[in-house]
Amino acid sequence: MTDKGLLLIISGFSGTGKGTVVNKLLTDFDDSYAVSVSATTRDPREGERDGVDYFFKTTEEFELMIENNELIEHACYVKNYYGTPRKFVEDKLDEGKNVILEIEIQGALDVKKLYPDCVLIFLLPPDVPELERRLKGRGSESDSVVKERLYRAVVEVEFAYKYDYLVINDDLDKCCKEIDTIVSAEKLNTKRNTVFIDNIEKELKGTFA
Ligand code: 5GP
Repeated sequence: MTDKGLLLIISGFSGTGKGTVVNKLLTDFDDSYAVSVSATTRDPREGERDGVDYFFKTTEEFELMIENNELIEHACYVKNYYGTPRKFVEDKLDEGKNVILEIEIQGALDVKKLYPDCVLIFLLPPDVPELERRLKGRGSESDSVVKERLYRAVVEVEFAYKYDYLVINDDLDKCCKEIDTIVSAEKLNTKRNTVFIDNIEKELKGTFA
């Protein structure tokens, strides 16, 4: 069966816990997942490290990456550029790793056009009061920022229909197991295994030669 990795895109509202889910997938299913580190022009937040959380770039550096075709996709989000470096993703897929992109919706839909085999997962909170609680619980967000994020969620939820799967992040363990189950099922999908079927067919025909 296919030994190529799967390209997995995870999007969701601010406050759904995407980062926590991705970190848990990396630790619980250690060798099978790799996460892409994006390039961005936004300033690092406290504790963020260059090359670990993001590749922090100037606008000129970022635009040069676009020009040199080094990014699979890029988008402008809250006045900053964000983009996915191509080489890491393609190398890891060839190595058989499932590569996770934790990116916003426009970028996700662009990647789907370029890599139709990728799988889009939309992460949802269990309900709206819990989303509000999580946004407020971050402590660093003012009421107006929380409102702004909820308003953005109203716009973003429309796009959930364009995703392949919805996963609810209520219980973290369950959520990660569900994502891993989706990945396992997708890898058994017939369309990803046509070479395997062709080989069996050839072998079978060979028995009559
Ligand atoms: P933050 O600034 O909070 O780290 O990220 C803001 C948004 O940018 C999040 O929705 C995150 O998923 C998205 N994002 C991060 N990296 C990329 C990327 O490479 N491409 C796109 N399109 N979005 C990204």
